[in-house]
Amino acid sequence: MSATEQSRSGDRTPAAEGGPVRIRKALDGLPSYRPGRPAAPAPGAEQAFKISSNENPYPPLPGVLEAVTATAGTMNRYPDMFATGLVAALADRFDVPPAHVATGTGSVGVLQQIVQATAAEGDEVVYAWRSFEAYPIVVGISGATAVQVPLAPGARHDLPAMAEAITDRTRLVFVCTPNNPTGAVVRRDELAAFLRRVPEDVLVVVDEAYREFVRDPEAVEGIDFYRRHRNVCVLRTFSKAYGLAGLRVGFAIAHDEVADALRKTAVPFGVSGVAQRAAVESLAREAELLERVEALVGERARVYDALVAQGWEIPHTEANFVWLALGERTLDFAGFCETAGLVVRPFAGEGCRVTIAEPEANDRLIRLAGEWRAG
Ligand SMILES: *Cc1c(COP(=O)(O)O)cnc(C)c1O
Repeated sequence: MSATEQSRSGDRTPAAEGGPVRIRKALDGLPSYRPGRPAAPAPGAEQAFKISSNENPYPPLPGVLEAVTATAGTMNRYPDMFATGLVAALADRFDVPPAHVATGTGSVGVLQQIVQATAAEGDEVVYAWRSFEAYPIVVGISGATAVQVPLAPGARHDLPAMAEAITDRTRLVFVCTPNNPTGAVVRRDELAAFLRRVPEDVLVVVDEAYREFVRDPEAVEGIDFYRRHRNVCVLRTFSKAYGLAGLRVGFAIAHDEVADALRKTAVPFGVSGVAQRAAVESLAREAELLERVEALVGERARVYDALVAQGWEIPHTEANFVWLALGERTLDFAGFCETAGLVVRPFAGEGCRVTIAEPEANDRLIRLAGEWRAG
């Protein structure tokens, strides 16, 4: 056994003296975020594909990679703490004041900043369920109470029920559109009606991690709602459409007091200089990146149509993934795919989320899904 294997298997755990340290009760029973598993090569030596984390299958654009490489030489210095260049570029891109832009270590980092800024023990946070798996974790860490509102038929947000769930203890609401992991969007008229029922001092976060993949003209565009409502905050990321998942950079657009609070709760120097530079460069090459997004949207339609033709019932998706509601057979399907070199994301007892990736991976998904249905 190598030294690394030994320490991994715990053989080298020092026999330290003393009893266990007291950890906050809020962390008991908290789910831990499970990253998508790396793809292992299939036995038949076929290339394996990881389609479990909604990543962008394209490698970085040449210009972006070069900018990152050039910036890497300054890693002995702390980055610009307020990401001034990136904030200016985003303010310009979305036509908002720079003071309304707050960055963080991925939009999950910003999400944590939002919860820290608005909710603690005794407060309630309302969100749909099943939705993004980071929600129960960030809320749980804060000590606030999660109020989960089941999805409506079609795996869509049930906004009337979410409005009903708001009490005078509610401080924060997450609206995930398109919803991870089901792919369904919230329509403009639905969000407008919902916001009329939300008290104005309750923050509504529109989590739009997949906004660039949306083609439905009725779908919410969070920024329009931010412009009209002081209690709306838009959450976006460079991880999905922009292909920078590994660099950890996301941002919120929100009104003064919220954006201010997000800067206060940020990890100091959290967004690295390399990440800031890559994000700025990506915005400058947005057209090129959006061509790739368009190709993925085309692949999404191809996969969706093929699966529906096989008899699968899939909620309409506007994101870079599809949801297979497999129920009790979820883990079996995930195992079946893995043996054939396709790592999907199972949610035991509910379903599998599969990312739209390179055409070869999509072809394999279609083939395996067909074999599965044929029994
Ligand atoms: C992927 C994802 C995010 C963001 O991830 P980061 O990499 O932290 O920016 C945020 N919200 C949802 C719903 C997501 O699926």
